Amino acid sequence: MLNVLPRNSSDPAKPSVWCACLSLLIGLTFLTAVGSASAENCLKITLTGTQGGPPIFNGQAGSGTLVQYGEKANNCSGTELLFDVGRGTNQQLSKLRVPAGKLNAVFLTHLHSDHTEGLSDVMQLRWHFNSTGPKVDLVCAGDTASPAGHTMSCQGFATHIGDALKFSGELGQRLAENPKRLPGGPADLLNVQTFKPSSDAQTVWQSGDVTVSAIGSRHVPGHASYRVDTPEGSVVIGGDAGNDKPAPPRDSSTSAQVEKLSKDVDVIVHSTIHPVMGPDMDSGFPPPIYFRQSTATDLGAMAKRANAKVLMLTHLIPPLGAKMQGPYKVPGGALTVEAYTEAVIDGGFEGETAVGVDLLSITLPK
Ligand SMILES: [Zn+2]
Repeated sequence: MLNVLPRNSSDPAKPSVWCACLSLLIGLTFLTAVGSASAENCLKITLTGTQGGPPIFNGQAGSGTLVQYGEKANNCSGTELLFDVGRGTNQQLSKLRVPAGKLNAVFLTHLHSDHTEGLSDVMQLRWHFNSTGPKVDLVCAGDTASPAGHTMSCQGFATHIGDALKFSGELGQRLAENPKRLPGGPADLLNVQTFKPSSDAQTVWQSGDVTVSAIGSRHVPGHASYRVDTPEGSVVIGGDAGNDKPAPPRDSSTSAQVEKLSKDVDVIVHSTIHPVMGPDMDSGFPPPIYFRQSTATDLGAMAKRANAKVLMLTHLIPPLGAKMQGPYKVPGGALTVEAYTEAVIDGGFEGETAVGVDLLSITLPK
C-alpha cells in the first residue's frame, strides 16, 4: 500500500499531487480497515431441534445442532455443519436461512430415528434443486454389530435414503421432467465417510480452520460424540451419550469419553434427562432408558470437571412445559427452565447453563 506514495512526494511545487495521494492513502487505509473487520470470524451454535426421543410435543423439532463458522459480517455463515437431523430440521434450517444445498457436512451421533429421520427430507430437497452438486459429506460410524444380533449401519441408511421415492415411482417421474437430476436419487448426493469410533478422539472432518473430531461413547452400538474446534471457539456435541456402566452403582450417568473430549471446551451441547424421571420418583418411565441418558445434575458435574464455559441442554426428557413424557407422567408436574438449571447447579456447575428450546443459539467469541 505504501507503494502508492510518489517517490518525490515532498515536492512543494505539486500540492495537487499531494492531495490526490493523501486522499488515496486515506481511502486505502479505510478499505483495509473495512476488509479486516469483515474478515473477523465467529462460531455460531444453534439448536435446530430439542425434542427428546420419539414422542412429539408442541411442534418441537427432533434433535439437531447447526454449527456455523464464517465471517461476523455474514452472521457466521460460511462452513455449515449439522449434527443430527431429527424431524422438522428442514423447516428449522429455512428459518435460519440455511438452504439444504448449502450444508457442507452432516454428522450422525447414532441411528435412532429421532436423530436421523429429517435427513431424507433434507436430501430429497437437495436432490430436487441441487443435483449438480456438490455432494454433502455424511460422517458417521461404520457398521457396528450388536451382541443382540442386529447391526447399526449408517452406510445402509444412506444408500436407502431415497428408497420410498424410488418405489413409489416418484423418482422416475421427477427424472422424466428433469433428466439432469442424479439417476440414483438423493442417495447419489451423499458422500458417506465412516470411521471406527474408539475411546480416543480422532479427526473425522476438516476444512480450512474447522476441525471435527469424534470419540466413541455408549448409548447404542456405533454411538459417537463430536467436537468442533475453530480459532474462535469450540463445541462438543455429546448426543445421547451415557456412562459405560449401563446402571448404578456407578460414579455418574455421564460418559467418561465425552468428558475427555470436552476438556477446556467452550460449549457442551448434550442430551439430558431430568432426575425427576428416575425410578424412585414414580413416573413409570422404564429404568433402563432412564439410566442410559445423562442426567442434568451429572452433566453439571461433568461440565465443571471438564472446565467448560457453557452447558447447553437439548433433547430434554421431559420437554419444558410437558405434563407427560410420551405415555409417562412427569412427577410433580411440568418442568421449567429453572427446574433444569437448578438440577445442573446441583451438580456443581458454575458456568452458564442454556436450557434448550428450538433455535436457541450461542455465538462465540462472546
Ligand atoms: Zn437415542
